[in-house]
Amino acid sequence: MVKKRAAVPRAGAGTLLTLIRTGRASTRADLVRLSGFARSTVAQRLDALLEAGLIVPAGDAGSTGGRPPETFAFNRHAGVLLGADIGGSHTRVAVTDLAADVLAETEADLDVADGPDAVLSWVTEAFARLLARVGREISDVRGVGVGVPGPVDGTGRLVSPPIMPDWDGVSVPERVSRALFKGAEEMGEDVPVVVDRDVNIMALGEQKAGGHDHADMVVVKIGIGIGAGLIVGGEIYRGAQGAAGDLGHLRRGTDEPCRCDNRGCLEATAGGWAIRRRLVELGYDVRTSQDIARLARRGDHETVRLVRQAGRLIGEALADVVGLFNPSHIIVGGNLAEAREPLLAGIREVVYERAQVLASRDLQIVPTTLGHRAGTIGAALLVHERLYDADRISAALG
Ligand SMILES: [Zn+2]
Repeated sequence: MVKKRAAVPRAGAGTLLTLIRTGRASTRADLVRLSGFARSTVAQRLDALLEAGLIVPAGDAGSTGGRPPETFAFNRHAGVLLGADIGGSHTRVAVTDLAADVLAETEADLDVADGPDAVLSWVTEAFARLLARVGREISDVRGVGVGVPGPVDGTGRLVSPPIMPDWDGVSVPERVSRALFKGAEEMGEDVPVVVDRDVNIMALGEQKAGGHDHADMVVVKIGIGIGAGLIVGGEIYRGAQGAAGDLGHLRRGTDEPCRCDNRGCLEATAGGWAIRRRLVELGYDVRTSQDIARLARRGDHETVRLVRQAGRLIGEALADVVGLFNPSHIIVGGNLAEAREPLLAGIREVVYERAQVLASRDLQIVPTTLGHRAGTIGAALLVHERLYDADRISAALG
């Protein structure tokens, strides 16, 4: 997307809003110091942000008898955001405040192979139920973020997703907006619906809200399928077609058929669906990757063995990624990651053994901080970042 740089004033209100909403500054003095703007400019821009309802006076500032407030906070309660984390076999949705703090959430086992109609209608109905639960109206929604388990183009349209053929060419923003604002389409026109891969929203969640603000990291999602979000130089790396990080379908030299119709993919031996198949053959009653994780946590011998073996296979693929990208952190999440130790131990064992010494010297391999919420929080953050983009705010308010 081409940003209209010319329309953005220098020393704009957007810069101050970014300092306030990211917690880097709250006082007038800090804002002057960190922005480098003149004190009078800061005063003017703060008035515009207060007027627009984007910030509110904070602390004792309200009670200083006529003097302008000195301390400010992001007005996180001026509306809500909706976040959806659509995974291959499990979907979570949440209503959050404008700073992406979860207010209400729900989840369901949904197979993306059931197609966009089934999955997206569940998502929009769940949004409506959650809004009612927190006492909010559709008119309170300021933005919607959605993660999907396949490559999307810049407009939120799925592009040849390997495991979800019925979704090819589907515009998720169009579908979600139409279903959500049915009968009130004009209301939906100003509400952005932003879409990215499920692994990317998870990476964004961990980066912005999970304390993993590392310039170079790999966030691995291990559930029924396997994917990775790459943060390179502080930004999500999507690749030329939005297909970067498709870890699960890297060839690993076996001949196992994969659900993407190729053979020998990492998923075909290490994905949750491959472990599930093996356990079912052994007579276990397992359906989801959460079932597998639960068995592993309980110490079921066979499950622990299979999960640790999957960890080693994933570790082999990650060792290559480490050799190429030299990340400082590998963050491991997804429903199968709830199996914890056997999976992490398997990954660590192989990555530290295989990766080049220099690239892995200070490498940390850790579980997600946000756990199963990483995706929904990341989805809300995706649209939060769009709504409060500094240039966008400065162009609107001066
Ligand atoms: Zn495959």
